[in-house]
Amino acid sequence: MSDATPTPTSPHAAFVAGLPKAEIHVHHVGSASPRIVSELAARHPGTVPADLDALRDFYTFRDFGHFIEVYLAVVDLLREPEDIRLLTYEVATEMAAQNIRYAEMTLTPWTSVQAGVPIEAYVEAVEDGRVAAERDHGIRLRWVYDIPGESGLPSAVDTLGFALDHAPETLIGFGLGGPEVGVDRPQFKDVFDQARAAGLHSVPHAGETTGPQTVWDAIHVLGAERIGHGTSSVQDPELLAYLVEHGIPLEVCPTSNIATRAVDVLENHPLKQMYDAGVTVTINSDDPPMFGTTLNREYEIAADLLGLDEQGIADLAKNTVHASFLPAQEQAALAAEIDAYTAGTGPLAG
Ligand SMILES: [Zn+2]
Repeated sequence: MSDATPTPTSPHAAFVAGLPKAEIHVHHVGSASPRIVSELAARHPGTVPADLDALRDFYTFRDFGHFIEVYLAVVDLLREPEDIRLLTYEVATEMAAQNIRYAEMTLTPWTSVQAGVPIEAYVEAVEDGRVAAERDHGIRLRWVYDIPGESGLPSAVDTLGFALDHAPETLIGFGLGGPEVGVDRPQFKDVFDQARAAGLHSVPHAGETTGPQTVWDAIHVLGAERIGHGTSSVQDPELLAYLVEHGIPLEVCPTSNIATRAVDVLENHPLKQMYDAGVTVTINSDDPPMFGTTLNREYEIAADLLGLDEQGIADLAKNTVHASFLPAQEQAALAAEIDAYTAGTGPLAG
C-alpha cells in the first residue's frame, strides 16, 4: 500500500476495475485501509500515527509478523461502537469503489466483545454501517461470524452464543479463522453443528497452512460448504475430485497466500492446478490493505496465473456469484450484470 511499491501493470486492469464483482472471503478489521485507520487514530490519539504518510509507511507489508502487528494496532483502535460503524461504512465504501456489488464479510465479534464493546452495540454498529453503505453506494453486505481459532474453544462457544442470541438477519455464515497448526478442526464440531442447525452456512478456513487432512476435516466434521483458502487441496487428487463432485468452492486469496508464506512465490501458486482439476475457484482478497493488495489486483493476478482473457475473467467473477449465498434470483441478476458489462467492453462492442 506504499507509494514506494511499484504497482505491476496488467493488460486487464481497466476491464477488471469496471467489472461488477462479488467477494466472499474478506475480513472486516483486515480491510481497514491507511485512510480509515487515519480517521480512527485521530479519534484515539496515541498508539497509531494519524498522519497518512506515516501510516502508509506503517502499512508497507514486510512479513507475516508485521501483518499481525498492523492488525492488532487496528483492533486496538476499535474501542467504541462508533469506531466499528465507521470502519464498516468506510470499508464498504472502498469496496464499492472497486465495483464490488456484494460481499460476504467475516466479522470476529469475539475480539470486540473482549475489548469491552457489548455484543448488542457491536451488532448495531456493523448494521448501521452496512445499511448506510447500501443506501449511499448500492453495495450489499452479508455477515459471517468467525471463531478466532487461536483463542480456542471458549471463544468458539462465545461466538456461537453471539450467533444464536444476537444475530442480525444479515448473518448468513459461520467461520473459523486464525492459525491452523495446533488448532484441530474437530474440536469445533459441536459448535458448528449448532450453528448449522440454526441455519448458518459453514465456511471455515482450512488447508491454508496445513495439509489436505484439514480440508477433509472441515468438510466431514464441520460440514464446510466452501473452504477458506484450501491451498493444500492440490496435494490430494482424491480431495480435488471430491471438491469437484460435491461442488465445494475454494475461496482463493493469492497475495494473502504469499504474505503468510502458505505459498512461496506467486508463480508457484496452485490456483491453476485447482482450476484445471475443475474445482470451482473464487478470487478474494482476505485482508487486502494489510497485504498490500485489492480485490481488483487479485483478479489481475488470477488472470495472469490462469492465462485468462476478458471472458475468462468474467466467468471467474460469476463463479464467486454462484458460490455465494445470495438467493438464486439475485445471483442471476448479478451474473447478468457481469455479462452485460463484458458484452459492452468486449472486442465485438462498437
Ligand atoms: Zn481469511
